[in-house]
Amino acid sequence: MKKVMIIGAGPAGLFAAYKLAGKCDVTILDKGFPVEKRHCPSPENCNRKCALCAKLYGEGGAGTFSDGKVIFSTEIGSTLNDVEGVGLKKNHGLVDEVEKIFEKYNVHAGNVTKDMQRKIKKLEEKCTKAGMRFVHTSLAHVGTDRLVELITSFRDGLKSRGVGFVSRADVRDIRKLENGMFLAETEKESYMADKVIVAPGRVGAKWLEGIVKETGMDFTYNPMDLGVRVEVKRCITDKVTALTRDMKFIIQTPTYKDYVRTFCTCPGGKVARETHDGYNLVNGHSEKGDPYENTNFAFLVTIPFTKPMANGNEYARQIAREIRELAGDKPILQRLGDLRGGHRSKKEHVSGYVVKPSLEDVTFGDIGLALPYRILTDIIEGLQKLNRIMPGVNNDDTLLYAPEAKFHALRIKNSDGYLQTSIQGIYVAGDGAGLSRGIVGAAACGILAAEGILKELE
Ligand SMILES: Cc1cc2nc3c(=O)[nH]c(=O)nc-3n(C[C@H](O)[C@H](O)[C@H](O)COP(=O)(O)OP(=O)(O)OC[C@H]3O[C@@H](n4cnc5c(N)ncnc54)[C@H](O)[C@@H]3O)c2cc1C
Repeated sequence: MKKVMIIGAGPAGLFAAYKLAGKCDVTILDKGFPVEKRHCPSPENCNRKCALCAKLYGEGGAGTFSDGKVIFSTEIGSTLNDVEGVGLKKNHGLVDEVEKIFEKYNVHAGNVTKDMQRKIKKLEEKCTKAGMRFVHTSLAHVGTDRLVELITSFRDGLKSRGVGFVSRADVRDIRKLENGMFLAETEKESYMADKVIVAPGRVGAKWLEGIVKETGMDFTYNPMDLGVRVEVKRCITDKVTALTRDMKFIIQTPTYKDYVRTFCTCPGGKVARETHDGYNLVNGHSEKGDPYENTNFAFLVTIPFTKPMANGNEYARQIAREIRELAGDKPILQRLGDLRGGHRSKKEHVSGYVVKPSLEDVTFGDIGLALPYRILTDIIEGLQKLNRIMPGVNNDDTLLYAPEAKFHALRIKNSDGYLQTSIQGIYVAGDGAGLSRGIVGAAACGILAAEGILKELE
């Protein structure tokens, strides 16, 4: 059997292994721990002392402690529609396949009744009239609290089909040898394979960028996605989230004609903090049953960068680093009313807030000092437009957390419609390769790369 090495045990790596198991000799290398050993020592109040963040690294990847919204969409969380040689039809097939695999693990998309269909149509019409777009998606919600169990059973299923897992394997380098095989080196060991799938997620995007530039793989830059996480009382979003849990609005702003979109909505959830090397981000998660009183969602401005700085990610990272300095190594929280009024928010006023912050490990401050004028203008104008569909979202009491950013990394060009890079034998998949931004999108990439390998090996 030919050997396939997969770097990264997130959704992209796991679904690639699912497709290859039994047909190839598959080994997954991951920098983090096995899923049952992934314990964050301070889940509510990150102490930033961990050498490796248990929430982001390890079996299941960032998906393990995600919100567990499994969105079966070709448009949301995926770029495969636009990838040369893939396109919408192929992507549909991949998403369907991902859905069928999830169903085997008892993860099913919710039913859309006739009444809901009618309401969705009405909402779409209302959005069109307000000059924005509403994208309905089919979705299953696993919930942060059930993900560990799901990933353990997925991993065990793969093991029983012969897939090898190596934890604490931090791959530093990948080299193509003269005999056409590949050598991956960690600090301690080397691993050989006939084909490699590199799926290191967003946490590994910087490392992969180094490999791409060193080996001369072809790539383009993805647009930058930067903004805030918005938190409101649940009653403001309930009508919409009852129709589609992860509401997707795409809004063009009047001043800059940029696009702002809602992303990763967590009804009844909490805002979460993500700690990265040199900067912090905010994110969101929710538990099964949506026990909390607020809804939070990402509100992101998408801007493609061109020249001379084509790398919008680096620009956003730089801003995130500065926010870390500004806010004393914490995310910044500000009431929308304070932002519009031109003054910082203060912790001592929190008892009077209508919306109580669900993330406490923050600095109450001024987002006006943190984000560039254009991004702030887009956010303020975007919320004004969204208020026409969701009255109350633009209230003074709305909370904004910064920075929220999605780093899509370099988009590595594929040479065959199966995510094979310009270095024959190396495939890429998932968020780290700039191809996805969600569990299903990453999983679809994994399946596609695996299909490419199987086709080559035939
Ligand atoms: C808090 C949070 C909430 C989220 N909520 C949702 C949600 O509800 N729905 C949704 O669809 N998406 C959600 N996401 C996004 C989703 O988790 C990611 O899109 C998805 O996990 C990406 O999959 P991936 O396989 O590409 O990468 P990842 O899941 O990031 O996995 C990459 C793996 O590669 C490993 N790795 C990295 N570098 C190396 C290296 N050099 N050597 C060896 N191993 C390496 C890492 O340890 C990691 O385990 C959320 C993310 C976060 C952080």
